Amino acid sequence: MAENTYLIRGAAILGGAAEDLLISAGVIVERGTGAATHSAAAGATVIEAAGLVALPGMVDVHTHLREPGREDAETVETGTRAAALGGFTAVHAMANSNPVADTAGVVEQVHSLGRAAGWVDVRPVGAVTVGLAGEQLAELGAMADSRAQVRMFSDDGICVHDPVLMRRALEYVKAFDGVVAQHAQEPRLTAGAQMNEGAVSAVLGLAGWPAVAEESIIARDVLLAQHVDSRLHVCHVSTAGSVEIIRWAKARGINVTAEVTPHHLLLTDDLVRSYDPVYKVNPPLRTDADVQALRAGLADGTIDVVGTDHAPHPSEHKECEWAQAAMGMTGLETALSVVQATMIETGLMGWDDFARVTSIAPAVIGRVADQGRPLEAGEPANLILVDPAARWTVDPHKMATMGRNSPFKGKELPGAVVATFFRGHPTVLDGKLNAPYRYPAYQETTGAAGAVSGN
Ligand SMILES: [Zn+2]
Repeated sequence: MAENTYLIRGAAILGGAAEDLLISAGVIVERGTGAATHSAAAGATVIEAAGLVALPGMVDVHTHLREPGREDAETVETGTRAAALGGFTAVHAMANSNPVADTAGVVEQVHSLGRAAGWVDVRPVGAVTVGLAGEQLAELGAMADSRAQVRMFSDDGICVHDPVLMRRALEYVKAFDGVVAQHAQEPRLTAGAQMNEGAVSAVLGLAGWPAVAEESIIARDVLLAQHVDSRLHVCHVSTAGSVEIIRWAKARGINVTAEVTPHHLLLTDDLVRSYDPVYKVNPPLRTDADVQALRAGLADGTIDVVGTDHAPHPSEHKECEWAQAAMGMTGLETALSVVQATMIETGLMGWDDFARVTSIAPAVIGRVADQGRPLEAGEPANLILVDPAARWTVDPHKMATMGRNSPFKGKELPGAVVATFFRGHPTVLDGKLNAPYRYPAYQETTGAAGAVSGN
């Protein structure tokens, strides 16, 4: 039993009491203080985890892996290496690749690339409309039935602004327990916008991006979701008003979930005064009042999850004039630290809440089997060990992602991922990449669908 057997000794489970975890053949076989003496542990590789926190592997609902077609920005291999180092064991790969992931063929290609890489589970997100053009529904059913078993659909980057198409998408995904993830941005209200509309944009003379452009779409979509009794997910909520609308919708029993990015939990539009395009992002950085409302919304459950919106870009698209620069920031390798800094070190959340918003709830929203599970005997061994006392300075050139566009460059952040176990296999050890997991042949795998219940 020694092979593929690991004894994690003395980790604080979800920040609680120190216990041992015995992992073998991909499964947590024992949890408790007695595991060390269990005969099954004989010959196990021992990992001393005193002072470390054990958490379920993080699940990102919003990652741009760029492949196929944008391999100059990121590949599935480099992006999922970054994910493993950041503490993730599953990511949802957004559909705005080239070609767009709007057919069963493309989502199966992304899924296969993820399996070949072996660093995390890659769950392709299917496009809602053909070519993200907003005119015609994509083949949602075929993507759901494909080997990729798509459950999340999004035109992310672009809003599904036609209310009839949005309604039809919400109706369609009910057949396979899917969810429509909306990039809420009224396009007419944001034409030419360069940053948040407010005091700073007025001073800088840059075209502003009003909060109402996001809030009006969210208000419309929660009502549409209620009308057709379907499931809506709101990507990267960025304003205080959006939090209020989602709180109202949840109080009415509407089936809506929402995400916030780490950068919107920490940064404000004041940074745009530097004209450094690393701070250019969609939705834009907002005000401190918005940041405080987003933190409160995440802490009280109005916002369900943290999603990175990891958006790597080649340097030439970011190291240029503000107006010409691409929108987006990297995030996979800094997410844990930023959430620790903004939510845990501020006293707003504990590590158990951290597990809820970074792993448990994201796995439920994406219907990802075997992820976001309790760290208990019999459960799949997708887990991470975190050193909460670590401090490090962000250097984009030392990251696994190809993107150098981290808005946290030069910042000192708390918390470090020491180890990541993916399907019982250590993809990260001592804070460094170890080796990928090797999936069994396709037909031996279990499907992703239907194994998780909940909203
Ligand atoms: Zn988006």
